[in-house]
Amino acid sequence: MKQAKWITAVLCLAGVGLAAAPRTGMTYAEAQARLPQRQLPRFWAGKMEDLSGRLSRWKTPEIRIIARSPGGRPLHLIQFGSSSRPPALANFNSAIGAREPAAYCDAAARKQPVVLFLGPVHGHEVEALTGLVNLAEIMETGRDLRGRDQSGLHALGRRCLVLIIPAGNPDGTARFQPGALQGLAGADLRFWGQGTWSDHSFCDWPGCKRQHPMVGANIGFLGCYFNDQGINPMHDEFFEPMGPESRAILKVAKETAPDLAVSLHSHESKPALLRPAYVPLEIQESVRQLARETYTLLEQRGLPHAEPFTPAPEKGPHPEPFNLASALYHISGAAAFTFECPHGLAEETACPASLEQILDIQLTLYEAMLRWALDRKTP
Ligand SMILES: [Zn+2]
Repeated sequence: MKQAKWITAVLCLAGVGLAAAPRTGMTYAEAQARLPQRQLPRFWAGKMEDLSGRLSRWKTPEIRIIARSPGGRPLHLIQFGSSSRPPALANFNSAIGAREPAAYCDAAARKQPVVLFLGPVHGHEVEALTGLVNLAEIMETGRDLRGRDQSGLHALGRRCLVLIIPAGNPDGTARFQPGALQGLAGADLRFWGQGTWSDHSFCDWPGCKRQHPMVGANIGFLGCYFNDQGINPMHDEFFEPMGPESRAILKVAKETAPDLAVSLHSHESKPALLRPAYVPLEIQESVRQLARETYTLLEQRGLPHAEPFTPAPEKGPHPEPFNLASALYHISGAAAFTFECPHGLAEETACPASLEQILDIQLTLYEAMLRWALDRKTP
């Protein structure tokens, strides 16, 4: 383990007084001792219990368990609205081969656009779990969990078929003890997110991807990126999935043919819609337009945002990986992309955001997505 050895060396140097060096590792006991003593607000959903406690209270959606995680936890699909999809003659890629996408799904013949919201497949990125639990509450009652009127978003949602997978990696989220990373340090993100090797050094990003599944004697704390079998659903083997999560997520996409689909993530920086890789440039351009519209709404609301990406073909010595967002396009034709929300870390280089602002960022993205889908539906 070349990288792990290097990190250990840095740890040793730190031990002889190399002050101000970034923390390069952490034990489980140290991570526990750093947990903030705070009560998270009621509108925040940072744990699996925050979801399971609410599911039975929503009366209007159809709620299904679409898979069980290796840890035995249910993966839920919450559906508002009914599907009006005619039977498919072919799977997506055969229909594309026939130059007749309607053989898979005649989207123009559907009454409503279909939008798929996929919650955290990286379990600690609970900003999206919070956002989606609030979205479901808004679809049910017209108000978010702060009690704030959201009748505009409610009305938009009711004109669409809204599919919500609130927790894309229940094992990972169940392992996440802080409930929120807002106000915590980058070291806490690295511990809970990517985890540690057995010498307590951080696996870090992107080094955490060099071993997959993340199993074996060299693993310390298994980060919340992974399910209980060490699988990161973002980088599963999509032609023969190793984990039940990505298999179930892709099945939902295949059966519902969403017009638009997002895999919701979080990072240290400003809110960003990422360029989808390995999809036609037209799909990239379409997502870029959605990015522009989302950033305009965020700007109007005094919320931070990144700049729109530039569409580009895959190239270079380290091209982008074919990830879950790419797979969502290739199985369903959806304009599928990854969204990154700020955690609101207390770091100089991080994008600051309060818990309230994080929820507002999530809801603003959802609004922009629903508008985007409806705009393309209305002749
Ligand atoms: Zn992520």
